[in-house]
Parts: sequence; structure tokens; C-alpha cells
Amino acid sequence: MRIILIGPPGAGKGTQCQRLLDLLAVPHLSTGEMLRNAVRQATPEGVAARQYMEQGQLVPDALIVGMVIKRLELADCRKGFLLDGFPRTLPQAATLDDLLERRAMSVDGVIELAVPREELVRRMTARRRADDNPEIFSNRIVSFEQQTAPLLDYYRRQKKLATIDGMGAADEIFQRIVASLADFGADEKRR
Ligand code: ADP
Repeated sequence: MRIILIGPPGAGKGTQCQRLLDLLAVPHLSTGEMLRNAVRQATPEGVAARQYMEQGQLVPDALIVGMVIKRLELADCRKGFLLDGFPRTLPQAATLDDLLERRAMSVDGVIELAVPREELVRRMTARRRADDNPEIFSNRIVSFEQQTAPLLDYYRRQKKLATIDGMGAADEIFQRIVASLADFGADEKRR
């Protein structure tokens, strides 16, 4: 299965992602992780990305698209993948669609983990990461609302979007996600 997980910072993507990976047994393509590794290793991409990441802004599309394309070309992605943190802008989504289409593939489904803004802020104060200081965190939420939220409509129009209520216990949320996967599968059979 080729699945995309979308959610604002603090929505609990990390937890749900891990569970989904165990269930689907597909590679985890996390662009945040790829970028953090690149920064750590000071690769040219990492050096270019660092300033944006430290400010809680998205890195330029060309930079991240190049990294994702390389990753998608590895053999393990043939059995599917779970994209986490990508696409994050409409141009990224269009590039991904083109890329898959050229290989006669497509995204099976997009899971949106929906959590109200007040709850995101509450969770952020309880967790703390280097890019979690209040100002930077709020930049990340603004990036999400302005640049990533339009993707939800993009995938809704493609009838691929499952909006999952991200409030409640992790187990319950995961059950909601699993139920939505069945819908994606059903779609697949109808095609
Ligand atoms: P978040 O908790 O904000 O979802 P991620 O770990 O996914 O964090 O990403 C960390 C940072 O890496 C982002 O704030 C952004 O600067 C950068 N980043 C990750 N994925 C993308 C992407 N698809 N496009 C642009 N920037 C990205």
C-alpha cells in the first residue's frame, strides 16, 4: 500500500506512524528524519535545509523533492511505503503524483490526523524538542495551516482523503486509522 500520513505538528503522527508501519510492513519515508540526518551529516542538502528547519519553516520544494525521489527509487519501496511529512505543499503533491503516474502507480490513500490548534499547543508545552520553543512551534503550525492544509482538499477531490479524529487514546485513534485503510483497499478493488 502507498499511504500518506498528514497532520499538524503535535498531532501524534509519530505514535500512529509506528503502529501503522508494524501493521503494513512497508518502509517509513519520513522527510523530517531524512532532513535531520542530512543536517547531522552536514551534506549539501543538510547545510541548505538547516536554516529553514531551525525557524520552523518548510525547506524549499526542490531540495526535499530531490531527496524523496532518490528514496522512492530504492527497491524496498516497490512493496509500498508510508510517507510521513511529505508532501507538505501542493507542488510537492503534484510532483509525487507525476512521479508515481509515470510508473503506473498512484497513492492509495491519505490519512489526515486532525487535532484542534489549542490541543496542539497544550501538547507542545508538555513535550519540548529543539524546534519546539513556542515561537518556532507556532511557525510550524502556521506553515501547516497555510501550506499543507490545502493538500487536504487536493486529496479530497481525488477521493483519497480519510480524516481521522486525532483526539482520544492512541489505541482508539489507531483503530480509526485501521478502519480507514479498509476503505482504501475497497477502492483499490473497484478500480
Ligand atoms: P513536524 O513535527 O513539524 O511534522 P517533521 O519532523 O516532519 O516535523 O519535519 C521537521 C522539519 O523538516 C519541518 O519543520 C520542515 O522544516 C522540514 N520538512 C520536513 N518535511 C518537509 C517537506 N515535505 N517540505 C518542506 N520541509 C519539510
